[in-house]
Amino acid sequence: MTDSDHTENDKTVIPMPFSRRYPTSSQKVKDLGLSDLSRQVEPSGRGAKGHWCSRCRGIWYSYFLEAECPRCGNRHG
Ligand SMILES: [Zn+2]
Repeated sequence: MTDSDHTENDKTVIPMPFSRRYPTSSQKVKDLGLSDLSRQVEPSGRGAKGHWCSRCRGIWYSYFLEAECPRCGNRHG
C-alpha cells in the first residue's frame, strides 16, 4: 500500500532575513586622529597606519605598533 500524501510540493521559498549588522550610515566611522607619539614624529599623519577602536567606533592613526587608542585608552581594538 503506497499511500502517497506528498501531493503538495513544498516549494514555499522563505526569504532569508538580512539581519546582518553592517555599519550603515547611522554609524559613522570617526576619525580619531594621530596618536600622541605619531604626532610628534609626523604631524601630517601621512602614511600612518589606521587602528580601529571599538569603544570610540573610529579609527586612529599611528606610525608605530601601538595598540592603545589615544582617545580612550582602549587596548582591545
Ligand atoms: Zn578609543
